[in-house]
Amino acid sequence: MISVNEARKILSDNSTRGKTQTVPLGHSLDAVVAEDIYSPIDVPSFDNSAMDGYAIKFGEKLQRWKVKTVIQAGDTSAYKIERGEAARIFTGAKIPEGTDTVIPQELIAKNEASGEIYYQEDKISTGSNVRLKGSQCKRGDLILKKGTVISPGIIGLLASVGLAEVKIYTAPTVAYVITGDELKEPGTSLTPGEIYNSNGPMLEALLKKIGVTDIFPKKASDKKEELQQIINQALEQQDVLILSGGISVGDYDFVKECLENAGVQELFYKIKQRPGKPMFAGKKAGKWIFALPGNPSSVLSCFSQYVKPCLYYFMGKENVWEADAELTLAQDHKKKPGLTFFVKARINGDEAEVLSGQQSFNLQAFSTANCLVELEEDKEEVTAGTRVKVYNL
Ligand code: AMP
Ligand code: MG
Repeated sequence: MISVNEARKILSDNSTRGKTQTVPLGHSLDAVVAEDIYSPIDVPSFDNSAMDGYAIKFGEKLQRWKVKTVIQAGDTSAYKIERGEAARIFTGAKIPEGTDTVIPQELIAKNEASGEIYYQEDKISTGSNVRLKGSQCKRGDLILKKGTVISPGIIGLLASVGLAEVKIYTAPTVAYVITGDELKEPGTSLTPGEIYNSNGPMLEALLKKIGVTDIFPKKASDKKEELQQIINQALEQQDVLILSGGISVGDYDFVKECLENAGVQELFYKIKQRPGKPMFAGKKAGKWIFALPGNPSSVLSCFSQYVKPCLYYFMGKENVWEADAELTLAQDHKKKPGLTFFVKARINGDEAEVLSGQQSFNLQAFSTANCLVELEEDKEEVTAGTRVKVYNL
């Protein structure tokens, strides 16, 4: 059996990036940029007014101008302003030739009869209220680094330089297989001996949350032939195969045998951890295979600790193996030495509070849990005040 850190290292060593694809900006939110992006233009691409006001030539040292023309945002005409003249101008409009400064309209007095404007205060200097060409970025400037996760603001930035498409890493297609004769779907009735399939809806949500959209749910009974066929088919069609249940040592746990029959190369089986000890990870022809023990807490914990980082790496993300935070443990916690514990917890300021009901079949704590806390393998008790690694759920 290997340690949690050994499992992480093996998975990290076997990680590869997925394919890239050029998509419309509107389809790129939360994806990772697959190339450095340079601006194709100067932004702004022309000097323009930052205020509603009057464009003048500041150096003339005049305090009185004749308003010659009106320039709206979007007006592409070429105006020329002579000495003693001003242009009425609005925010975003092009600064006309012969001027270099905009006086905000609040600072201007106007003679309605002569049409002249007056400026008497001393609140501006040459270039005031003018956004210069190229002041955001120049053509050829690096504006976004490969590996960045695309936010709404980044979509705005890319649009501002005129880009309609962006090259991103694509998410893998994922098949998940729920195994177990005891499972019934939520919304149907139960006979004693049966339980509801909670792992299916949970896995679906876990995958969607990390940006996987092509999800192929499958169900297999605890019959070897049926399971084998579903595994073989999923391995042909999808990039990633996740299984729930059937990976332990019971008489009806056929997942490991079927994966071996399908030619999956084992990376590891069993990790010194709770929950989720009998987890299996493997690869076949560049595809990931994760078999997670059937208890729902094991599925959630193993997904968060191992599946998510591998899929995130495939999708171009950096630092996928790092904890989300290091916080202070709120209360003492006893554990079995020799196993790393991942316990359901709730973040409260700088503290992580471990919740009651940590058994791997018990889902009630998920109603309040918002993270998993990692308690180190060798410890028998982790005392309040210890800094612990925290993984957001
Ligand atoms: P297994 O790993 O197949 O031995 O399953 C371990 C425990 O998890 C058993 O109590 C199963 O009934 C339960 N279990 C397996 N699959 C699911 C599922 N999809 N939803 C809820 N519980 C499950
Ligand atoms: Mg089972």
